[in-house]
Amino acid sequence: MSAFERAKRVLAGGVDSPVRAFGAVGGDPVFIARAEGARLYDIEGRRYIDYVGSWGPMIAGHAHPRIIEAIREAAARGTSFGAPCEAETLLAEAVIERFPAIERLRFVNSGTEATMSAIRLIRAATGRERIIKFTGGYHGHSDSLLVAAGSGALTFGVPSSPGVPAELARLTLTLPYNDLDAVRRVFAAQGDDIAGIIVEPVAGNMGCVPALPGFLEGLLEAAHQAGALVIFDEVMSGFRVAPGGAQGLFGLRPDLTTLGKIIGGGLPAAAFGGRAELMDLLAPTGPVYQAGTLSGNPLAMAAGLAALELTTEPGFYSRLEAATRRLAMGLAAAAKRAGVALTINQVCGMFSVFFTANPVHCHADVVAADAARYASYFHAMLEAGVYLAPSAFEAAFVSGAHTGADLDATLTAAERVFTRLA
Ligand SMILES: *Cc1c(COP(=O)(O)O)cnc(C)c1O
Repeated sequence: MSAFERAKRVLAGGVDSPVRAFGAVGGDPVFIARAEGARLYDIEGRRYIDYVGSWGPMIAGHAHPRIIEAIREAAARGTSFGAPCEAETLLAEAVIERFPAIERLRFVNSGTEATMSAIRLIRAATGRERIIKFTGGYHGHSDSLLVAAGSGALTFGVPSSPGVPAELARLTLTLPYNDLDAVRRVFAAQGDDIAGIIVEPVAGNMGCVPALPGFLEGLLEAAHQAGALVIFDEVMSGFRVAPGGAQGLFGLRPDLTTLGKIIGGGLPAAAFGGRAELMDLLAPTGPVYQAGTLSGNPLAMAAGLAALELTTEPGFYSRLEAATRRLAMGLAAAAKRAGVALTINQVCGMFSVFFTANPVHCHADVVAADAARYASYFHAMLEAGVYLAPSAFEAAFVSGAHTGADLDATLTAAERVFTRLA
């Protein structure tokens, strides 16, 4: 019996997060035995150059000795206390140092919890219930955020999963990403009812789709004029596109920020934070309830702190940006030589390839690209020892552990694959 068949007997769908099942590209998932640096090793002993990086957290590469040592030291002192520990304060200080818009924060265990709690906070702060999100934006799977666009931009959202109450989904308006006019129209029509906007300032969950110049500035302005608040969901982009996330890159200050992935150094940790007066609405200082048995877990705090320290090595982000750019430009050139239409979006250490000749600025552009061709590319690259996201709607991540030789090997494989795809 294969590992996947055995898993399917006891785990729902054989996995603990749906994309891992390879449903979008076909075939059975690879089961990982261990990982080190830029490499994954499967249970059959095959080796892959990894561009998933656990979906973002592994910015320093897998099993980095400094992170492993930090976890080992923390574990020896006890794995959970259910009482404050100093590591929480240390990691909070390290985050606040990088994000000027965050004065106070709270740690949680997943990005889903961070965004869910941030939405509760903006609803409480404004006394309003409606929120705006963007099509193709993913903010975890809490009920208010698992909502698709209704028909027409000014209609209410519909649940994008059975089990999400329609009553709740109706409070979530879904608009096209990078469409500032749509946002302005909604505020003009019902600004008094809108608590705020949640947005990925560099979208990563429909593939990498950066905000166009002026879009985020316009969101902040439209929201603030209407007395609404803006959450930058930087669970993916935080510490990835710049030390201070997309807001650091663009020089913007959202009201609240959600962080995850890299912040836990590969262990489960996430956070939300912002101005002190907003964050002080949370219990125990304020009335907005939010809690967590394992929140601020000492192992996760130690791993996160070690990961952030690794990114402060001189030139870390410029090397990451240069490596990722080299890969993206190499892929574009190889596709061109093979006559394969390819558009690449890249922001520092993340990028996506879209099999289309057109620019990709929103979800409609993403779904217009050739997903079947991505599936062929994915399988051919996997065969060649390169592990990419098993879905056309995801970003790829480069880490500090990817060497020039890794990038060369990836480009050589891609050159052959594109020629076959053409
Ligand atoms: C991954 C992600 C989430 C959800 O985080 P989980 O830890 O998987 O719950 C939320 N928002 C964004 C932008 C993400 O990339």
